[in-house]
Amino acid sequence: MAAVIIPWNPDEPHWDGPYAADVDAVRRAGVVRQRWTLPSHLASSHAAASHVSPSHGAGPVITTERGMDVWLVILTGPPAAQGLIGHGTLAVVGGTAPEDEPVTPVEIDFDALLAHGDQLALPRLVECVPGVLAADGRPVVIEGADEAAMRAAWREAFTPDVGSLDPAPGSLPPTAGMRVQVNRFERDPDVRRVVVAHRGAACHACGLDFEQRYGLDGGDLVQMHHITPPEYVDADYAVDPLVDLVPLCPSCHVVAHSRWPRPYGISELRVMLARSGFLRGTALTDEQLAAESGAARILDASSDPDAP
Ligand SMILES: [Zn+2]
Ligand SMILES: [Zn+2]
Repeated sequence: MAAVIIPWNPDEPHWDGPYAADVDAVRRAGVVRQRWTLPSHLASSHAAASHVSPSHGAGPVITTERGMDVWLVILTGPPAAQGLIGHGTLAVVGGTAPEDEPVTPVEIDFDALLAHGDQLALPRLVECVPGVLAADGRPVVIEGADEAAMRAAWREAFTPDVGSLDPAPGSLPPTAGMRVQVNRFERDPDVRRVVVAHRGAACHACGLDFEQRYGLDGGDLVQMHHITPPEYVDADYAVDPLVDLVPLCPSCHVVAHSRWPRPYGISELRVMLARSGFLRGTALTDEQLAAESGAARILDASSDPDAP
């Protein structure tokens, strides 16, 4: 599928809300939605580069489609601020457009945004994807080799969080990946710090300790698992890191989420491990077990599958 390059001038009030806050929000929540308008018919970067106007019927015309990749590029302003700064996908295409304007309102789910200053610098981007320069103030479409080159360039610019198992958003073609929705508490870095400080970094199901086994600090590698049952999470719900989250190693975390919609509880995981002879009870300290009791109360209150 083709991808759209959107030139963005940060001096224009295009972005809804402060951009810096959204950089953080994407890290925490995985996605931030923004409204934009795109020309109804997009020119390919090759046609745009040769100054063929799509509205005059010459050159290929590409229709904006839901699911298309979007690349956010700054081409104006101070050179130190120019370059590739974000990735998203077109989530909604269409809506009420201003009359007599050949534009299509769209909503873009941005799933990766870089802070100003962290962008892939424009000279390097142009070296990788020369078609970028065709987006001279208006969105253009890149396809084929250019699109692949854009993904490769993005892999260079984007640093995933330590311990993240997700590929960098946009680094793989849509056919090679899928978005896994986790609730945002599981990826909130502030919540993680509190949980690790309080409960340590060992897996609370199998006891795996990253430091013991691999000699690496587990604080960044262990995953956070949100154990509060969905029916307790309403609009007024505020996460309590000390009760609502437990550290799990990646394999126990995958197993926990292998049941849907109610993930396996920590005690159920322990039963599985014990049955197959893999549970080493001594790996968890009494302190860690005691810290879990608050969470267990909630779990026990709702772990009956026949409960309404
Ligand atoms: Zn584990
Ligand atoms: Zn989880």
